[in-house]
Amino acid sequence: MKVTLSEYAGFCDGVKRAYDIVEKISKDSDVKKPVVVLGSLVHNTDVVNRIKKIGIGKIDFDGDIEKIKKEIDDNIGTLVVTAHGIGPEIFDIAKEKGIDVVDTTCPKVIKVQRLAQVFLKRGYQIVIIGEKKHKEVQGIHGWSNKKAFIVEGKDEVDELKLDENEKIVVISQTTQNKDWVDEIAAAICKKYPKAKMYNTVCDTTKNRQSEVVDIARNNDVVFVIGSPESSNSNRLYEIAKAENPNTHFVERINDINESWIEGKNSAGVTAGASSPNWVINEIVEYLKKY
Ligand code: SF4
Repeated sequence: MKVTLSEYAGFCDGVKRAYDIVEKISKDSDVKKPVVVLGSLVHNTDVVNRIKKIGIGKIDFDGDIEKIKKEIDDNIGTLVVTAHGIGPEIFDIAKEKGIDVVDTTCPKVIKVQRLAQVFLKRGYQIVIIGEKKHKEVQGIHGWSNKKAFIVEGKDEVDELKLDENEKIVVISQTTQNKDWVDEIAAAICKKYPKAKMYNTVCDTTKNRQSEVVDIARNNDVVFVIGSPESSNSNRLYEIAKAENPNTHFVERINDINESWIEGKNSAGVTAGASSPNWVINEIVEYLKKY
């Protein structure tokens, strides 16, 4: 089978950076052990298992600060903040308890967190377009002093009650569908014409989304590799599926159903930012040999 692999498939710069930092500190005798990651470093079970094997622990974090306050104790030597970032409270809790923090927040996420901080100081009402329960969005919300409004869909724009006489700024989750963000932002700006918009979907996400449209149009079948919890992988799947109904979301090779490729001549493969190369290569090789 002819296979076209996305130019951008696999770990994005932010995830790669976080993974490399964690690998490095696991071997560094100056870093206080045990090292524990706050949540999943990467939304991929294989990667999480690899990290476990090099002695890195994990504590679950669903955004509940009170719960995590009890769970972070001096049994942790070093706490790792993932590429998604977190709000300021966790840094304060760790400091209070004398726990070292290694912050692997992606610089592109930090940029959005800073925008939230700066606009808060300037007296703006902040709107974040993104998923309310997503770790990155909760972190940005934290940096807005929890004052930002989070909008998940167009219907929520109707429910927004902002003061029209005050300044308004709109920012977005870095891994959202770029066109969807523009659409929601346009609805907000229509309701509040003075609102300023910053589409903060990151370039890596934008490139993957533009490319997957071509991949989906030019292949008989499409595979989007990613974890069900990965926001950017889900967005890639939705975009590809809208172009090509023979699009399938898989996390690993065993998820592929042979009936999906029977009678097909070409396959397009893309992957979310948290999919490791070893999983992508295995799938590509399997399809090529089919
Ligand atoms: S998807 Fe973009 S913002 Fe998120 S970690 Fe990767 S590079 Fe950073």
